[in-house]
Order: sequence, then structure tokens, then C-alpha cells
Amino acid sequence: MDLSKLTIASARKALDAKEFTARELTEAYLDEINKKNGELQAYLEVWSESAREEAKKADERIARGESAPLTGIPLAIKDNMLVVDRRITAASKILENYIASYDASVIKKLKEQNAVLLGRTNMDEFALGSSTENSAFGPTKNPHDISRVPGGTSGGSTAAVAANLALGALGSDTGGSLRQPAAFCGTVGFKPTYGAVSRYGLIAAASSLDQIGTVGKTVEDAQIIFDAIRGHDENDSTSLPDSAFTKTASVKKVVGVPRAFLKEGVEADMLENFEQTLKSLKAAGYSIVDVDLPALEYSLAVYYIINPAEVSTNLARFDGIRYGLSVPADTIGETYERSRGIGFGPETRRRMLVGTFVLSSGYADAYYRKARDVRELIRADFAKAFESVDAIAMPTSPTAPWKIGGKADPLSVYAADIFTVPINLAGVPAISIPSGSVERDGKKLPVGFQIIAPHRGEAGLFAIAKDVEKSAV
Ligand code: GLN
Repeated sequence: MDLSKLTIASARKALDAKEFTARELTEAYLDEINKKNGELQAYLEVWSESAREEAKKADERIARGESAPLTGIPLAIKDNMLVVDRRITAASKILENYIASYDASVIKKLKEQNAVLLGRTNMDEFALGSSTENSAFGPTKNPHDISRVPGGTSGGSTAAVAANLALGALGSDTGGSLRQPAAFCGTVGFKPTYGAVSRYGLIAAASSLDQIGTVGKTVEDAQIIFDAIRGHDENDSTSLPDSAFTKTASVKKVVGVPRAFLKEGVEADMLENFEQTLKSLKAAGYSIVDVDLPALEYSLAVYYIINPAEVSTNLARFDGIRYGLSVPADTIGETYERSRGIGFGPETRRRMLVGTFVLSSGYADAYYRKARDVRELIRADFAKAFESVDAIAMPTSPTAPWKIGGKADPLSVYAADIFTVPINLAGVPAISIPSGSVERDGKKLPVGFQIIAPHRGEAGLFAIAKDVEKSAV
């Protein structure tokens, strides 16, 4: 069994044709994890025993001829989705020993299909970061060059898929956390329309931006996992009705490029790679047109006000009493202070401080409310652009993966999110597809090409993404 050639789609066929069993497939992945996870640190915990049990159940179901698309497929789960009776940490010391009391809706759906859950993957603490260096348990390494970051915050899930330590994975994307690591590791990373996938049982970072999505080696695989986890959920009040989504796409093959927005900060060979992919799309019959999204230049400023504001409110629940770490002290105030002081890492604290500031009564008008208004302009820019194009293309990242420890200044890390955060502000779906490579220090590093579609336009997004996949360098 050559894991590097296997996709979810091909494994499904082989399992149903009894070419190998789910148990054999699971063992192959557990072996690979054993060999490589020490170095890569993609998983924080591997669930070997329960994975074997799940594989056994999957084989029984396959034998009955009742397999679902993910029956027996070994998947990795980002450590911010609740799996009942399993430890869940969000890569934070404050939750180090916390055990989940129920299954997240997405996990319930995977279990209903008898998927095999291999383990929980590393991430930036509370999904705040762009490199997986903010994990309290040490960074994940990029499988293409272990001196470099895999991107983040779903760096563990993405590195796992890229290094054949899982066939696919779940991650979350608040401002790029599935697409940017996909670009850095050479996988597909997909963020659905806000409300397409239930957030029930996802540890919240910034609730109006968070969305669970998928990692796969191919667009088809990312779509198969999405189809398994999507759908209305009454436990999530922002979940959309299933009828809101069109089943089929009528794509006229017009892709817009916001040229004015691409001018600054993109590394020259990354931009060259983007232009090459546009050219091959053109050769595949697409028209490439300019689109104007004037408010996009405010995206980073708006995102880095709204995200910390929501983070500061969401993380207030980790008080040293209700969840996880609790440091004993003489007064309850001291318990709060000590538990939070020891439990949260530097980036998480930074966000909470900024968030508390922009929401404070003296500054909320100048920052938070202003940012909310500009967010509406960004949303409107996208809606207007989609009146004349099927999709919008942008690079996923302005830079190649950087060296671990190489970006000490938080602002330079925030700046790397320039092409991914506008999508979460607008709530639209987007996907990053591998598109060749650039060279750094003699090593080939993957590049991602990003396609963005209108709200609830997943069907069209996947159709175009498959064409990109075929034509990408
Ligand atoms: N890099 C962005 C941030 O730090 C996005 C993270 C994410 O998508 N979870 O907030």
C-alpha cells in the first residue's frame, strides 16, 4: 500500500472492493505516525486503540455492503473540536487536562459514517496565529523543510495530511487557518460559507469568523469530508438551512482578480507563480478580468480589531474555576489571576488585552464599532464583484513558509494574513489549491492558489477548484 498515492476517493474504492481492510489501512497510518510524528509533531495525541476499534467496526459495515463515503477512512482532528471522553486542549496550558463531555456535531457526523479518528493535532493556542508556533506544546514542522513552519493555525492537521500521517483532516479557519497551512504544506485547504458547518463543540476563538473546514490531498477529498460534516444544526444558531445551498453550479468561467490589492508585499516569485496559474486557467477556457474591491485594503486593520474583541469575550470563560487549570490561592480573584497568568501564552494574552481595549467604553466607538462598519463595506465589495464574476482569485499567502522562530514581530505575522482574512470578514467560501513551488535555501516549498466564491456558492467553488487543480503548474 503506497500511502503517498492514496486519496480518500481511491481508498473508498479499494476498501469497498476488499483490496485491503480498514484495519490494514489504519495500521499503515499508525506505523507512519510512529515513524514520523516524533520529528514533525503534527499530532498531540494518537488514539491508536480506539482507531483500531473504529476500523474493525468499519470493516463490519463494509462487509454488510453499507459503507458511507468516510467509512474506514483514517482522519486527523484539530485539537479544538470536542470528542467525548477525550482530552482537548486547544494547544493551551489552561486546558491541558480538560476532558470533553460531548461530541462536537462534526465529530458525531464522522462517527455516524464510521470514519477512523487517528488523533488530535497541534495548532496555535486557541487558533490564534499563522504558524503553529503559538502552541503551548511546541511547534509543528513543515514536512517539506523541517526548519520551517507548516503555517497555522491548523498546522498539525495539514502537516499530517501532507506527510501521509492521515488521509484527510478537520481544521478550523477564522482568518486563514486552513488555507494558509494548505499553501505552506502543499495540500488543499477549504473554508466553507459561514454557517455551512455547525460550530457546536468547536472551542470558539472569534465566533463571527470561525468556521470548521477540511484538509485533503485533492479538491475532491476536501469536498468528500465537507459533504460528510455540512448541514443545518439546531445546536448552532448561526447554522444555515440546507435549502440555502444550490446543488449544482452553472459556472460561466469568469474569474476576477483584484489587481490593485496584489501590488504590495507579495514575494516576486510567489506573484509570478500566481500569474502562471492564471495563464493556465485562461488556456483552460476561463476569462480573467479585473475586479475592484476598494475596501479590501482595510481588511487586516478590521480583522485585528474584531478578532481580538471576540477572543477577549470568548476566553473570559477560562477563569480557573469552570474549565481546566485552577491554581489554588487565598482569594477567588487571585485564583483567576494566577490561573489565567500561567495558563495563557503570550499571543493569547496580547489578543485579550487588545480586545478588551477596543471594546472598552471610551474606545468602542473609535475601534470596535468602526471596524464593524468597515466590515460591512468589505462584505458589500464582495457581493458587488460577484455580480459580474463566478469567482475571485488571489494568492493564498504573500510569502513562502518562514523559518521556525524567524518572525519575532507579531505585526509581521499578522501581515502575512492579508489575502485570507477578508474572506472570513465577508463570510464567503474559499479554497487553497497547490500550484507548484518556489525555492528557498535550495529547497522546494509549495505555493497555494486561492479561489473565493459567493456566499453559499460551494458547488461552483469546487468546480472551478478542480479546473485549477488540473491546470496548476
Ligand atoms: N492568522 C489569523 C489569526 O491569527 C487567523 C487564524 C485562524 O484562522 N484561526 O487570527
